[in-house]
Amino acid sequence: MTTPVQPQVLPGHAPDAGDRPRLSFAVPRRGKPPRHLADLTSAERAAVVTELGQPAYRAKQISTHYFGHLTRDPGAMTDLPAGMREDLVPQLLPELLTEVRRLEADGGDTVKTLWSLFDGVKVESVLMGYSDRATLCVSSQAGCGMACPFCATGQQGLTRNLSTAEIIEQVRRAAISCRDGELPGGPRRLTNIVFMGMGEPLANYRTVINAVRRMVDPTPDGLGMSARHITVSTVGLVPAMRKLTAEGIPVTLALSLHAPDDELRSQLIPINTRWTVGEALDAAREYFEVTGRRVSIEYALIKDMNDHGWRADLLAAELLKRGKGWVHVNPIPLNPTPGSIWTASDKDVEDEFVARLRSAGIPTTVRDTRGSDIDGACGQLAAEV
Ligand code: SAH
Repeated sequence: MTTPVQPQVLPGHAPDAGDRPRLSFAVPRRGKPPRHLADLTSAERAAVVTELGQPAYRAKQISTHYFGHLTRDPGAMTDLPAGMREDLVPQLLPELLTEVRRLEADGGDTVKTLWSLFDGVKVESVLMGYSDRATLCVSSQAGCGMACPFCATGQQGLTRNLSTAEIIEQVRRAAISCRDGELPGGPRRLTNIVFMGMGEPLANYRTVINAVRRMVDPTPDGLGMSARHITVSTVGLVPAMRKLTAEGIPVTLALSLHAPDDELRSQLIPINTRWTVGEALDAAREYFEVTGRRVSIEYALIKDMNDHGWRADLLAAELLKRGKGWVHVNPIPLNPTPGSIWTASDKDVEDEFVARLRSAGIPTTVRDTRGSDIDGACGQLAAEV
Protein backbone atom coordinates (compact mmCIF):
# COMPACT_ATOMS: atom_id res chain seq x y z
CA MET A 1 0.00 0.00 0.00
CA THR A 2 2.97 2.29 0.25
CA THR A 3 4.81 3.74 -2.70
CA PRO A 4 8.49 2.89 -2.51
CA VAL A 5 10.82 5.84 -2.29
CA GLN A 6 12.45 6.13 -5.67
CA PRO A 7 15.16 8.46 -6.82
CA GLN A 8 13.64 10.66 -9.48
CA VAL A 9 15.03 12.19 -12.59
CA LEU A 10 12.97 15.16 -13.58
CA PRO A 11 13.70 15.80 -17.24
CA GLY A 12 14.10 19.41 -18.14
CA HIS A 13 12.01 20.80 -15.34
CA ALA A 14 14.41 21.30 -12.50
CA PRO A 15 15.61 24.89 -12.47
CA ASP A 16 19.16 23.74 -11.98
CA ALA A 17 18.99 20.66 -14.20
CA GLY A 18 22.24 20.25 -16.06
CA ASP A 19 23.64 17.10 -17.61
CA ARG A 20 23.94 15.52 -14.18
CA PRO A 21 20.84 13.49 -13.35
CA ARG A 22 19.21 14.44 -10.07
CA LEU A 23 19.25 11.19 -8.19
CA SER A 24 18.52 12.29 -4.68
CA PHE A 25 15.93 14.15 -2.73
CA ALA A 26 18.33 14.53 0.15
CA VAL A 27 19.66 18.03 -0.41
CA PRO A 28 17.09 20.81 -0.38
CA ARG A 29 17.52 23.08 -3.38
CA ARG A 30 16.01 26.36 -4.24
CA GLY A 31 13.71 26.78 -7.16
CA LYS A 32 10.22 26.16 -8.29
CA PRO A 33 8.57 22.78 -8.59
CA PRO A 34 8.21 21.58 -12.18
CA ARG A 35 5.19 22.88 -14.01
CA HIS A 36 2.22 20.56 -13.69
CA LEU A 37 -1.21 20.29 -15.28
CA ALA A 38 -2.86 21.03 -11.91
CA ASP A 39 -1.13 24.43 -11.77
CA LEU A 40 -3.00 25.51 -14.90
CA THR A 41 -6.54 26.55 -15.75
CA SER A 42 -8.15 24.59 -18.55
CA ALA A 43 -7.44 27.44 -20.99
CA GLU A 44 -3.77 27.46 -19.93
CA ARG A 45 -3.57 23.68 -20.32
CA ALA A 46 -4.86 23.91 -23.87
CA ALA A 47 -2.30 26.64 -24.63
CA VAL A 48 0.58 24.58 -23.21
CA VAL A 49 -0.42 21.49 -25.15
CA THR A 50 -0.60 23.56 -28.33
CA GLU A 51 2.85 24.99 -27.59
CA LEU A 52 4.10 21.44 -27.26
CA GLY A 53 2.87 20.82 -30.78
CA GLN A 54 -0.28 18.81 -30.03
CA PRO A 55 -3.95 19.55 -30.61
CA ALA A 56 -5.59 21.37 -27.73
CA TYR A 57 -8.18 18.64 -27.10
CA ARG A 58 -5.40 16.41 -25.78
CA ALA A 59 -5.30 18.66 -22.71
CA LYS A 60 -8.86 17.70 -21.90
CA GLN A 61 -8.13 14.00 -22.38
CA ILE A 62 -5.16 14.13 -20.03
CA SER A 63 -7.16 16.20 -17.53
CA THR A 64 -9.87 13.53 -17.57
CA HIS A 65 -7.30 10.88 -16.69
CA TYR A 66 -5.75 13.01 -13.96
CA PHE A 67 -8.77 14.60 -12.25
CA GLY A 68 -11.39 12.05 -13.23
CA HIS A 69 -9.50 8.75 -12.99
CA LEU A 70 -6.85 10.07 -10.58
CA THR A 71 -4.05 8.64 -12.69
CA ARG A 72 -0.80 10.04 -14.03
CA ASP A 73 0.27 6.72 -15.54
CA PRO A 74 0.76 7.16 -19.30
CA GLY A 75 0.15 3.43 -19.78
CA ALA A 76 -3.45 3.85 -18.62
CA MET A 77 -4.16 6.58 -21.18
CA THR A 78 -5.08 4.29 -24.03
CA ASP A 79 -7.02 7.00 -25.86
CA LEU A 80 -3.71 8.74 -26.59
CA PRO A 81 -1.31 7.60 -29.31
CA ALA A 82 1.53 5.57 -27.76
CA GLY A 83 4.25 8.09 -28.66
CA MET A 84 2.32 10.93 -27.11
CA ARG A 85 1.77 9.00 -23.91
CA GLU A 86 5.49 8.67 -23.28
CA ASP A 87 6.39 12.15 -24.46
CA LEU A 88 3.59 14.55 -23.59
CA VAL A 89 2.23 13.03 -20.39
CA PRO A 90 5.43 13.22 -18.29
CA GLN A 91 5.82 16.86 -19.32
CA LEU A 92 2.37 17.68 -17.98
CA LEU A 93 2.25 15.31 -15.04
CA PRO A 94 5.74 15.19 -13.48
CA GLU A 95 6.11 13.31 -10.19
CA LEU A 96 5.82 15.91 -7.40
CA LEU A 97 5.37 13.89 -4.19
CA THR A 98 7.35 10.90 -3.02
CA GLU A 99 6.13 9.05 0.02
CA VAL A 100 8.77 8.93 2.74
CA ARG A 101 6.80 7.54 5.65
CA ARG A 102 3.27 6.54 6.50
CA LEU A 103 1.96 6.22 10.06
CA GLU A 104 -1.42 4.91 11.14
CA ALA A 105 -3.45 5.53 14.28
CA ASP A 106 -7.00 5.09 15.55
CA GLY A 107 -7.17 1.56 14.16
CA GLY A 108 -6.19 2.74 10.69
CA ASP A 109 -8.83 5.50 10.55
CA THR A 110 -6.07 8.12 10.71
CA VAL A 111 -3.21 7.93 8.23
CA LYS A 112 -0.43 10.46 8.27
CA THR A 113 1.91 10.64 5.29
CA LEU A 114 5.24 12.39 5.10
CA TRP A 115 6.05 13.49 1.56
CA SER A 116 9.31 14.55 -0.01
CA LEU A 117 8.96 17.25 -2.68
CA PHE A 118 11.12 17.63 -5.80
CA ASP A 119 13.75 19.55 -3.85
CA GLY A 120 13.87 17.27 -0.82
CA VAL A 121 11.64 19.49 1.29
CA LYS A 122 9.24 17.51 3.50
CA VAL A 123 5.55 18.13 4.12
CA GLU A 124 2.78 16.14 5.76
CA SER A 125 -0.83 15.37 5.11
CA VAL A 126 -3.27 13.48 7.34
CA LEU A 127 -6.24 11.45 6.11
CA MET A 128 -9.04 10.80 8.59
CA GLY A 129 -11.90 8.39 7.99
CA TYR A 130 -15.23 8.93 9.80
CA SER A 131 -18.53 7.10 9.48
CA ASP A 132 -20.00 9.78 7.23
CA ARG A 133 -16.99 11.41 5.58
CA ALA A 134 -13.27 11.21 4.84
CA THR A 135 -11.25 14.34 5.55
CA LEU A 136 -7.77 15.24 4.36
CA CYS A 137 -5.68 17.77 6.25
CA VAL A 138 -3.38 19.36 3.64
CA SER A 139 -0.21 21.44 3.87
CA SER A 140 -0.05 24.72 1.96
CA GLN A 141 3.53 25.65 2.84
CA ALA A 142 6.68 23.80 3.87
CA GLY A 143 7.14 25.13 7.37
CA CYS A 144 5.35 28.31 8.40
CA GLY A 145 6.32 31.91 9.00
CA MET A 146 3.73 32.66 11.68
CA ALA A 147 5.88 31.42 14.61
CA CYS A 148 3.02 30.45 16.95
CA PRO A 149 4.89 29.04 19.97
CA PHE A 150 2.51 26.11 20.65
CA CYS A 151 2.62 24.80 17.07
CA ALA A 152 5.23 22.32 15.85
CA THR A 153 5.32 23.83 12.35
CA GLY A 154 5.63 27.33 13.82
CA GLN A 155 8.95 26.30 15.36
CA GLN A 156 10.43 25.43 11.97
CA GLY A 157 10.10 28.75 10.18
CA LEU A 158 9.05 28.99 6.56
CA THR A 159 10.99 26.95 4.03
CA ARG A 160 8.87 27.75 0.99
CA ASN A 161 5.39 28.01 -0.43
CA LEU A 162 3.94 24.92 -2.04
CA SER A 163 2.72 25.12 -5.62
CA THR A 164 -0.92 24.57 -6.52
CA ALA A 165 -0.09 21.15 -7.97
CA GLU A 166 1.84 20.14 -4.82
CA ILE A 167 -1.36 20.80 -2.87
CA ILE A 168 -3.58 19.03 -5.42
CA GLU A 169 -1.26 16.04 -5.47
CA GLN A 170 -1.78 15.59 -1.72
CA VAL A 171 -5.51 15.50 -2.45
CA ARG A 172 -5.23 13.17 -5.43
CA ARG A 173 -3.09 10.67 -3.49
CA ALA A 174 -5.59 10.67 -0.60
CA ALA A 175 -8.50 10.30 -3.01
CA ILE A 176 -6.76 7.21 -4.42
CA SER A 177 -6.30 5.81 -0.90
CA CYS A 178 -10.01 6.31 -0.26
CA ARG A 179 -11.09 4.84 -3.59
CA ASP A 180 -8.83 1.82 -3.17
CA GLY A 181 -10.24 0.98 0.24
CA GLU A 182 -7.14 1.76 2.27
CA LEU A 183 -9.25 3.14 5.13
CA PRO A 184 -11.23 0.66 7.23
CA GLY A 185 -14.74 0.15 5.89
CA GLY A 186 -13.79 -0.30 2.25
CA PRO A 187 -13.75 1.94 -0.79
CA ARG A 188 -15.18 5.42 -0.32
CA ARG A 189 -14.84 8.98 -1.56
CA LEU A 190 -12.63 11.68 -0.19
CA THR A 191 -15.24 14.28 0.77
CA ASN A 192 -13.61 16.96 2.94
CA ILE A 193 -10.45 19.05 2.86
CA VAL A 194 -9.08 21.14 5.70
CA PHE A 195 -6.13 23.52 5.19
CA MET A 196 -4.88 22.69 8.66
CA GLY A 197 -1.61 20.99 7.84
CA MET A 198 1.69 22.83 7.62
CA GLY A 199 1.64 26.49 6.72
CA GLU A 200 -0.58 29.55 6.74
CA PRO A 201 -2.81 29.14 3.67
CA LEU A 202 -3.65 32.83 3.35
CA ALA A 203 0.09 33.66 3.28
CA ASN A 204 0.24 31.61 0.05
CA TYR A 205 -2.96 33.17 -1.15
CA ARG A 206 -3.07 32.89 -4.94
CA THR A 207 -1.76 29.32 -4.92
CA VAL A 208 -4.28 28.21 -2.31
CA ILE A 209 -7.19 29.83 -4.17
CA ASN A 210 -6.08 28.12 -7.37
CA ALA A 211 -5.90 24.81 -5.50
CA VAL A 212 -9.41 25.33 -4.12
CA ARG A 213 -10.64 26.05 -7.65
CA ARG A 214 -9.02 22.85 -8.95
CA MET A 215 -10.72 20.95 -6.11
CA VAL A 216 -14.20 22.32 -6.80
CA ASP A 217 -14.16 22.61 -10.60
CA PRO A 218 -16.17 19.77 -12.13
CA THR A 219 -14.18 17.05 -13.88
CA PRO A 220 -12.33 17.11 -16.18
CA ASP A 221 -11.31 20.65 -15.19
CA GLY A 222 -10.94 19.71 -11.53
CA LEU A 223 -11.79 17.15 -8.87
CA GLY A 224 -15.47 18.07 -8.57
CA MET A 225 -15.50 18.41 -4.77
CA SER A 226 -17.96 20.57 -2.81
CA ALA A 227 -16.64 23.97 -1.69
CA ARG A 228 -18.74 23.65 1.44
CA HIS A 229 -16.61 20.68 2.42
CA ILE A 230 -13.37 22.65 2.16
CA THR A 231 -12.12 24.58 5.19
CA VAL A 232 -9.47 27.28 4.97
CA SER A 233 -7.93 27.94 8.38
CA THR A 234 -6.05 31.16 9.13
CA VAL A 235 -4.23 32.94 11.94
CA GLY A 236 -6.22 36.02 10.89
CA LEU A 237 -4.46 37.76 8.00
CA VAL A 238 -7.20 40.35 7.70
CA PRO A 239 -6.55 41.74 4.18
CA ALA A 240 -6.37 38.19 2.81
CA MET A 241 -9.57 37.26 4.66
CA ARG A 242 -11.25 40.17 2.88
CA LYS A 243 -9.90 38.99 -0.47
CA LEU A 244 -11.22 35.51 0.27
CA THR A 245 -14.62 37.01 1.05
CA ALA A 246 -14.63 38.62 -2.39
CA GLU A 247 -13.68 35.40 -4.25
CA GLY A 248 -17.21 34.08 -4.10
CA ILE A 249 -16.20 30.48 -3.34
CA PRO A 250 -18.35 29.18 -0.46
CA VAL A 251 -15.54 27.47 1.48
CA THR A 252 -15.70 27.28 5.26
CA LEU A 253 -13.46 29.84 6.96
CA ALA A 254 -11.80 28.89 10.24
CA LEU A 255 -10.14 31.56 12.37
CA SER A 256 -7.49 30.35 14.83
CA LEU A 257 -8.30 32.66 17.71
CA HIS A 258 -7.00 30.85 20.81
CA ALA A 259 -7.56 33.90 23.02
CA PRO A 260 -10.28 36.59 23.18
CA ASP A 261 -7.94 39.32 24.48
CA ASP A 262 -5.09 40.96 22.58
CA GLU A 263 -2.62 40.70 25.42
CA LEU A 264 -2.64 36.90 25.47
CA ARG A 265 -3.36 36.41 21.77
CA SER A 266 -0.27 38.38 20.82
CA GLN A 267 1.79 35.86 22.78
CA LEU A 268 0.11 32.85 21.17
CA ILE A 269 -0.27 34.24 17.64
CA PRO A 270 2.46 36.81 17.01
CA ILE A 271 0.65 38.28 13.95
CA ASN A 272 -1.97 39.55 16.41
CA THR A 273 0.30 42.56 16.97
CA ARG A 274 -0.49 43.46 13.34
CA TRP A 275 -4.21 42.55 13.21
CA THR A 276 -6.00 42.46 16.53
CA VAL A 277 -8.70 40.14 17.88
CA GLY A 278 -11.34 42.75 17.04
CA GLU A 279 -10.11 43.22 13.46
CA ALA A 280 -9.89 39.48 12.83
CA LEU A 281 -13.38 38.90 14.23
CA ASP A 282 -14.80 41.77 12.17
CA ALA A 283 -13.31 40.25 9.01
CA ALA A 284 -14.69 36.82 9.99
CA ARG A 285 -18.12 38.30 10.55
CA GLU A 286 -17.98 40.00 7.12
CA TYR A 287 -17.12 36.63 5.60
CA PHE A 288 -20.34 35.24 7.03
CA GLU A 289 -22.38 38.23 5.86
CA VAL A 290 -21.21 37.96 2.28
CA THR A 291 -21.04 34.17 1.88
CA GLY A 292 -23.68 32.99 4.35
CA ARG A 293 -21.13 30.46 5.57
CA ARG A 294 -20.89 30.08 9.32
CA VAL A 295 -17.33 30.74 10.50
CA SER A 296 -15.41 28.34 12.79
CA ILE A 297 -13.40 29.76 15.66
CA GLU A 298 -10.52 27.46 16.58
CA TYR A 299 -9.47 27.55 20.21
CA ALA A 300 -6.67 25.26 21.40
CA LEU A 301 -7.19 24.80 25.13
CA ILE A 302 -3.84 25.24 26.87
CA LYS A 303 -3.67 24.48 30.57
CA ASP A 304 -3.60 27.62 32.75
CA MET A 305 -2.87 29.72 29.68
CA ASN A 306 -6.13 30.48 27.89
CA ASP A 307 -8.63 28.12 29.54
CA HIS A 308 -10.03 30.38 32.26
CA GLY A 309 -13.77 30.72 32.79
CA TRP A 310 -13.58 34.48 32.35
CA ARG A 311 -11.92 34.01 28.97
CA ALA A 312 -14.78 31.75 27.86
CA ASP A 313 -17.18 34.51 28.90
CA LEU A 314 -15.13 37.18 27.15
CA LEU A 315 -14.97 35.05 24.00
CA ALA A 316 -18.75 34.62 24.05
CA ALA A 317 -19.20 38.37 24.54
CA GLU A 318 -16.85 39.24 21.66
CA LEU A 319 -18.74 36.87 19.35
CA LEU A 320 -22.23 37.96 20.46
CA LYS A 321 -21.26 41.61 20.07
CA ARG A 322 -21.11 40.83 16.35
CA GLY A 323 -24.46 39.05 16.22
CA LYS A 324 -25.94 35.58 16.59
CA GLY A 325 -25.86 32.54 14.36
CA TRP A 326 -22.77 33.54 12.39
CA VAL A 327 -20.17 31.48 14.19
CA HIS A 328 -19.41 28.34 16.08
CA VAL A 329 -16.47 27.51 18.32
CA ASN A 330 -14.20 24.47 18.08
CA PRO A 331 -12.18 24.05 21.25
CA ILE A 332 -9.26 21.66 20.63
CA PRO A 333 -7.32 20.09 23.51
CA LEU A 334 -3.72 21.22 22.94
CA ASN A 335 -1.58 18.56 21.34
CA PRO A 336 1.70 19.10 23.21
CA THR A 337 4.74 19.55 20.98
CA PRO A 338 8.12 18.15 21.96
CA GLY A 339 10.06 20.46 24.26
CA SER A 340 7.06 22.64 25.04
CA ILE A 341 6.14 23.42 28.61
CA TRP A 342 2.49 23.71 27.64
CA THR A 343 -0.04 20.97 27.90
CA ALA A 344 -3.76 20.38 27.36
CA SER A 345 -6.32 21.71 29.82
CA ASP A 346 -7.74 19.31 32.39
CA LYS A 347 -10.99 17.69 31.32
CA ASP A 348 -13.12 19.46 33.97
CA VAL A 349 -11.67 22.82 32.92
CA GLU A 350 -12.40 22.01 29.28
CA ASP A 351 -15.97 21.02 30.20
CA GLU A 352 -16.47 24.27 32.10
CA PHE A 353 -15.11 26.32 29.19
CA VAL A 354 -17.49 24.59 26.77
CA ALA A 355 -20.46 24.90 29.16
CA ARG A 356 -19.95 28.66 29.50
CA LEU A 357 -19.88 29.16 25.75
CA ARG A 358 -22.98 27.03 25.26
CA SER A 359 -24.94 28.72 28.01
CA ALA A 360 -24.18 32.03 26.30
CA GLY A 361 -25.78 30.58 23.17
CA ILE A 362 -22.61 29.90 21.17
CA PRO A 363 -22.68 26.56 19.29
CA THR A 364 -19.58 24.73 20.49
CA THR A 365 -18.07 21.40 19.45
CA VAL A 366 -14.88 20.02 20.93
CA ARG A 367 -12.72 18.83 18.04
CA ASP A 368 -11.53 15.27 18.30
CA THR A 369 -7.81 14.81 18.57
CA ARG A 370 -7.08 12.31 15.87
CA GLY A 371 -3.68 10.76 15.68
CA SER A 372 -2.09 12.34 18.73
CA ASP A 373 -0.07 9.13 19.14
CA ILE A 374 1.46 9.64 15.69
CA ASP A 375 2.47 13.24 16.27
CA GLY A 376 -0.86 14.32 14.81
CA ALA A 377 -0.17 17.97 15.54
CA CYS A 378 0.92 19.48 12.30
CA GLY A 379 4.62 19.61 11.61
CA GLN A 380 5.74 17.16 14.23
CA LEU A 381 6.65 14.39 11.84
CA ALA A 382 8.49 16.67 9.42
CA ALA A 383 10.38 18.14 12.37
CA GLU A 384 11.51 14.67 13.40
CA VAL A 385 12.84 13.75 9.96
N1 SAH B 1 -1.91 28.41 9.83
C1 SAH B 1 -3.28 28.03 9.86
C2 SAH B 1 -3.55 26.57 9.56
C3 SAH B 1 -2.64 25.52 10.13
S1 SAH B 1 -2.82 24.96 11.78
C4 SAH B 1 -3.90 28.41 11.18
O1 SAH B 1 -3.15 28.75 12.08
O2 SAH B 1 -5.12 28.41 11.30
C5 SAH B 1 -4.43 24.33 11.99
C6 SAH B 1 -4.96 24.52 13.41
O3 SAH B 1 -4.22 23.73 14.34
C7 SAH B 1 -4.85 25.96 13.88
O4 SAH B 1 -6.02 26.32 14.56
C8 SAH B 1 -3.68 25.89 14.84
O5 SAH B 1 -3.68 26.94 15.76
C9 SAH B 1 -3.89 24.53 15.46
N2 SAH B 1 -2.73 23.98 16.16
C10 SAH B 1 -1.42 24.17 15.89
N3 SAH B 1 -0.64 23.53 16.77
C11 SAH B 1 -1.48 22.90 17.62
C12 SAH B 1 -1.28 22.08 18.77
N4 SAH B 1 -0.06 21.78 19.19
N5 SAH B 1 -2.39 21.61 19.41
C13 SAH B 1 -3.63 21.92 18.97
N6 SAH B 1 -3.88 22.69 17.91
C14 SAH B 1 -2.81 23.19 17.24
